Amino acid sequence: MRRFFMAMLIAYLPVLTRAAPVFDLQPNTHWQTELRAKSEELLAQREAEARKANAFGCERYCTMLDEIFARVLRVATYQVPGSAKHDWQLIVTRMPGDEAWALPDGHIFISEEFIQRKNLNTDEIAFVLAHEVSHVVLAHEADMVDIVRSLVPFGVTASVSDVYATLDFDMGLLLRIAPMMSDMELEADRMGLMFAALSGNDPDRTIGFLRKLATGPRHASVAATHPEERRRLAAAEQYLPIARRLYALHDTLSPQKSLEP
Ligand SMILES: [Zn+2]
Repeated sequence: MRRFFMAMLIAYLPVLTRAAPVFDLQPNTHWQTELRAKSEELLAQREAEARKANAFGCERYCTMLDEIFARVLRVATYQVPGSAKHDWQLIVTRMPGDEAWALPDGHIFISEEFIQRKNLNTDEIAFVLAHEVSHVVLAHEADMVDIVRSLVPFGVTASVSDVYATLDFDMGLLLRIAPMMSDMELEADRMGLMFAALSGNDPDRTIGFLRKLATGPRHASVAATHPEERRRLAAAEQYLPIARRLYALHDTLSPQKSLEP
């Protein structure tokens, strides 16, 4: 009988234990209260814009988007436990010309019109959402505030609002921080590829989103805060081997749904 219990224990041990996170990320924790307040302000503003355009809420991809977002989020908050405290929510609009973006408090926006325009499949959507979730998890907005404050001779009391106000009119400053913001995009691509792989999306398919961008029309702007599309693809491709390994092991490396609190 004892042997039987031992055999049962060994058989169920992998289910009862969780694999440790595969990353040891320690994101920036500065400015959390201020960035949350700024997020609330922007959330209200963007929601009002979408409602005014009669383009707020999902129509075509509701269930699919909820399901993909939940999977990506489960992985991201498990890999970076401190990120579970954010106000995570997926906001779907149908705003023409909009794509996907994140507020630093965890509100992720995506436009269904963008999904249709780029003809995105579920793996590519997983990459897009994982990229946005990565910006939040990696606290890129707090990094950006720190970078701007280090470049501008603000007084010690300069607030997050002062930083945004300065960025609104100081084109020279925007040009100076553009390379750092580009690096954050590449980091979000990298981490997005990993989170999507851990949430069960084949990286050889998720990277299809970056392939579409790299073969699509060029985007030119004065201050390139996003790296050029072919550079994004080339940078992400370097991480395909590790993403493929994570994908192969995603069942054992990811939190079990049944064990979630
Ligand atoms: Zn981004």
